[in-house]
Amino acid sequence: MSKQILIIGGGLAGTIVANGLCRQLGQELSNGSVTLTMLSATDKHMYQPGLLYVPFGKIRESELFRDQRKVLDRRVAFSVDPATHICVNSKRITTQSGKTLSYDYLVIATGSRIRPDLVPGMSDGAHWFYDLDGARKMRDALNVFQGGKVVVNVNAPHKCPVAPIEVTLMLREFLASKGVLEKSEITYTYPIGRLHSLEPLANWAVPEFQRLGIKAELFFNTKQVNPADKTITSEEDVTLPYDLLITIPPHTGQQVVMDSKLGDAGWVATNKQTLLRDGSDDVFVVGDTTNIPISKAGSTAHFEADTSVDNLASLIKEKRWSRVYDGKVFCFMETGMTTGTYVWFNYNTPPNPGPPSQAIHWLKLGYNRLYWLSARGLL
Ligand SMILES: Cc1cc2nc3c(=O)[nH]c(=O)nc-3n(C[C@H](O)[C@H](O)[C@H](O)COP(=O)(O)OP(=O)(O)OC[C@H]3O[C@@H](n4cnc5c(N)ncnc54)[C@H](O)[C@@H]3O)c2cc1C
Repeated sequence: MSKQILIIGGGLAGTIVANGLCRQLGQELSNGSVTLTMLSATDKHMYQPGLLYVPFGKIRESELFRDQRKVLDRRVAFSVDPATHICVNSKRITTQSGKTLSYDYLVIATGSRIRPDLVPGMSDGAHWFYDLDGARKMRDALNVFQGGKVVVNVNAPHKCPVAPIEVTLMLREFLASKGVLEKSEITYTYPIGRLHSLEPLANWAVPEFQRLGIKAELFFNTKQVNPADKTITSEEDVTLPYDLLITIPPHTGQQVVMDSKLGDAGWVATNKQTLLRDGSDDVFVVGDTTNIPISKAGSTAHFEADTSVDNLASLIKEKRWSRVYDGKVFCFMETGMTTGTYVWFNYNTPPNPGPPSQAIHWLKLGYNRLYWLSARGLL
């Protein structure tokens, strides 16, 4: 009997798992003892980190997308047919088209989604860059902005730990380049009592924000946005007026995870080392959709995917485990339009961001193009 591996989600994590398994299980795939199937919600693969550059006119939209079929090894049976229900007891998946699929091993890689709808007024009153439509609208708003009060409002949880700081620092330089910085005031809000959940990054940002005149409003848990009078209010009862509101909306996991009762708010309860779903020995969870206590990021998804590929291949070939995930994350961080730094950390080692440099900015731009090789497993 052939072993069926089913991957749900054709984003960063699912794609790296699929292509990695094709490399490690080449023989099994060609003799038919293993089959590899992927279900996804769209036929396009989006390089999401590129969205950061859209509002500032620094990237072509065509650079963000590839056909998912072309990013995947041809041995993967790929369908655009979103999963609507996952039953880990019967090992069956139901899809939007009405199909039922079974599996020997399941990989859940459905990612996360932005939920501005969870905050009253946010969808109408705020701009964001976390999807293409939002990033385009933010670009249009920035193009006509003549200065005033700008609030950068950060909500949790969200993917990409460094994006809030990146967008704030890039925005400041953008306003300066338009000649409207003098007439503007930038206020950054954050839900806890420091500038970032990663303490070393928060400590790094304090002198940067002070030097650049960026104000901060901490312990700001967003309660509502009032687009009519252009204010944003926190649960702590602080109200800030704005002329331009940029938000990182709260996120949840996907509806299919919620409907299948696999985890609160759509985050699947996952062992942080084996990446197995809690209570399962045949369900791997990779990428944003896990509930593990580490940043949701593309690099997290990549390192988790590599670990899961090694383990799945070892289990199938040799009935043994290969290794555990150590919580590794590596993110380049833009610190303006022409400089950048980076953070790397894992479960035991905290991040230690260094001084910004032009070289690291260019490395980040280089990686934006090399991503497609990385997704194919060539890097
Ligand atoms: C603006 C922005 C900037 C970012 N910058 C960085 C950065 O600098 N560095 C970094 O490391 N990370 C960054 N990220 C985060 C990174 O893009 C995500 O963490 C990463 O894409 C997560 O990978 P994933 O595979 O878990 O989810 P995704 O890549 O989102 O993929 C999920 C996939 O699941 C599919 N799917 C959804 N529902 C279903 C369903 N029911 N059935 C089947 N398929 C389904 C979707 O179509 C999608 O293909 C950024 C993200 C954004 C938005």
